[in-house]
Amino acid sequence: MYWDKDIETMTASALRDLQLRKVNDTLARARNSKYYGQLLAKLGVGQLASLSELEQLPFTTKDDLRAGFPYDFLAIDRQDCVRLHSSSGTTGIPTVVYYDRFDVEMWASLVARCMYMTGARPGDVFQNMMGYGLFTGGLGFHYGAEKLGMLTVPAGPGNSQRQLWFMRQFGTSVVHVLPSYAMHLQTACAEAGMDPKRDLSLRIAFIGAEPHSVEIRQKIEAFYGLKAYNSYGLSEMCGPGVAFECPQQEGMHIWEDAFYAEIVDPRTGRVLDDGAEGELVLTTLAKHAMPLLRYRTRDLTRLSREACACGRTHVRMDRIMGRSDDMLIINGVNLFPVQIEKVLMKIPEIGRNYLIEVVKQDYMDKLIIKVELDGNAFQGTLDQLEHLQRRICDKLRTELVVTPTVKLVEAGSLPVSEGKAKRVYDLRKAE
Ligand code: AMP
Ligand code: ZN
Repeated sequence: MYWDKDIETMTASALRDLQLRKVNDTLARARNSKYYGQLLAKLGVGQLASLSELEQLPFTTKDDLRAGFPYDFLAIDRQDCVRLHSSSGTTGIPTVVYYDRFDVEMWASLVARCMYMTGARPGDVFQNMMGYGLFTGGLGFHYGAEKLGMLTVPAGPGNSQRQLWFMRQFGTSVVHVLPSYAMHLQTACAEAGMDPKRDLSLRIAFIGAEPHSVEIRQKIEAFYGLKAYNSYGLSEMCGPGVAFECPQQEGMHIWEDAFYAEIVDPRTGRVLDDGAEGELVLTTLAKHAMPLLRYRTRDLTRLSREACACGRTHVRMDRIMGRSDDMLIINGVNLFPVQIEKVLMKIPEIGRNYLIEVVKQDYMDKLIIKVELDGNAFQGTLDQLEHLQRRICDKLRTELVVTPTVKLVEAGSLPVSEGKAKRVYDLRKAE
């Protein structure tokens, strides 16, 4: 029932001792990077005598990673790196993370541990419907599944009928899928005249990479006749494999032998007690190539140290309640409104105002961008208007890796607020 019983059921005090030792190892390794080398020298930080001393270190943010692009956070020789990934969605300066052989191996073990915890076993057929490439959801799960010993189908995302055909032909029993896509796929099942409970052999789904409610999980479980487990991770830590639900389905165990978790007040940065809602801050404990200290995830959640009936002692986090920044997650792809603005403002025919709507359509997220025309710069025909619309859409797609619907509207027709502009209307119900 455990992938690594000793680690997973370690007593709290043994786990704290292990973490302290690993934090000090991490500090020693981090010193080799340009960024932390300078920072730790400036602060005069040596070995820590207790985990709480970590609170004295400053946070590391996504902006720090961008400023240090491409190699300032690398703590090993570049020759020893074997892989890189990046945070999903951005085509500006991305947040890139590096792995050496040890990191890749460690990551696969963590993901295998997560999957094993839910009951996935050698002999299962695992269909990975996540994007392969820079996004960590594809390869991260792929190598974890191989390590566990499942027959792994690297299906990648999209192409619904083919996904269903694979499931039927190969007898897929375990899937990794975006919750929004799992919902969307229900339409494809109906089109194919398929009842998953009758025609497929699915028993486990890993759903994650984007916020979703317990109700969505229950709908997925009921429709496909399986158990769905929440999977949390971020590329900066490794990717998936940071925290995962156990069979109890009451919060995700954060693997504390690999990550040190804190919850802070997003405004003041003050560390909060267990149980309080705040921003998750993570320190890597086992990474070689790119250790990160007190990384601000921007994800809002809560920690619980109550004993879990599954017997694992690692702290649990609640499902993500939201983010402390304005990042939008569109079908699993991260983007910031400012990226949209940058693209729009470079197009001369575009006027002063725009707004962004996100809606749910057939369970998928849809990004709608309403843009005012500049009456002076654009006086063309309807044909030219359509052409302009396509051009804007193409430019946005290139930048965002998401295809928006662009609606051009007359100058002055969008609402103007008195205070700060409210440009983003996230109309997805919290479902
Ligand atoms: P990425 O940088 O592409 O690895 O995306 C990481 C971000 O995706 C996280 O910081 C979260 O905001 C979001 N995310 C990942 N897993 C989950 C999950 N299970 N529930 C909610 N949000 C998630
Ligand atoms: Zn548990």
